[in-house]
Amino acid sequence: MKYKLHVDRDCCIGCSACIAAAPELFELDEEGKSRPVQEIIDESKLESANLAKDSCPGECIKIEKIE
Ligand code: SF4
Repeated sequence: MKYKLHVDRDCCIGCSACIAAAPELFELDEEGKSRPVQEIIDESKLESANLAKDSCPGECIKIEKIE
């Protein structure tokens, strides 16, 4: 199973909570908004991705099952 990570840039306030939760999966870009380090993850990273998603105060992170 693979998953695609999405961050809604308009929603992101750059609080870094997702990065604190999953630094291997998210980073701040040059504008101070979160972006996925890698867009496609496998099942082994899903728990970390969900932690990051749940830590976001604005529900800006989506995890899409792609296969
Ligand atoms: S937790 Fe949400 S608002 Fe904060 S940096 Fe991550 S995506 Fe942006």
